[in-house]
Amino acid sequence: MTRIILALIISIIVSSCSFAGSIETIPLIDRQGESDTSLLINASDSEKEEYFPDGEMPSQILAFYVKVQGQGVLFDAGLQDGNITAGLMKNGINPSDVKTILITHLHPDHFGGLVNFSGKASFLNAVVYVSAPEYDYWVNELKHKPVISALSLYQVHTFQYGDEVLPGIRAVDTSGHTPGHASFFIEEGGEKLIIAGDILHFPEIQMPHPEVSVRYDVDPVKAEQSRRFILDYAAWKDIPIAGMHITPPGIIRVRKSGEGYETY
Ligand SMILES: [Zn+2]
Repeated sequence: MTRIILALIISIIVSSCSFAGSIETIPLIDRQGESDTSLLINASDSEKEEYFPDGEMPSQILAFYVKVQGQGVLFDAGLQDGNITAGLMKNGINPSDVKTILITHLHPDHFGGLVNFSGKASFLNAVVYVSAPEYDYWVNELKHKPVISALSLYQVHTFQYGDEVLPGIRAVDTSGHTPGHASFFIEEGGEKLIIAGDILHFPEIQMPHPEVSVRYDVDPVKAEQSRRFILDYAAWKDIPIAGMHITPPGIIRVRKSGEGYETY
């Protein structure tokens, strides 16, 4: 993950939009930049050349603030740099009013923003939710210091795959990128939205070629299975997907195309 972060050209862009029918969703853009195609695995040189002729891939980091059953929920927190909190404020949301943060997985571009530059909690009144297997991996197995110190600033709840974490929000097993990576299926008044997390890093190539993974997938084979599962399900049910590394606004609709998928 460090490589993508280093590769990013820092540009702070914050946008506000509503998507996904009646589900009010605010994409929060942390960073945009470019990454090198050497990050890809299971992609041939000619495929890389076809989708990224200059060898650079557009890359971005997003988080999403979604109103679910009247409650605002922040999905992921971006990097430790304040861009997500700035984005919330630009949309009239005070970070101290964020009560609930659901984390797809514990990579620094997803949990880092829980902590501000002075090492304090960025969201003073928030409870953080993370999957039990993800918590176990980073906290108990790896004893990863930045994760442990970030989570220590919060009341943390763990959930299992399949749990209704909050009313209208169900956690789904999309492990592979990390051992406890979770996606969230949201349902609100007949409308649906999938918060997919990191099932896609470079959609330009991973949509037509879901077999392409990235070097920081802990288990690339499982990551591919999770990617195919989400894309299949979203295409079948025509549900929009919000992804943390999808080109802003970060929300797409997909359909099957050949051996892979395409947006429409
Ligand atoms: Zn990520």
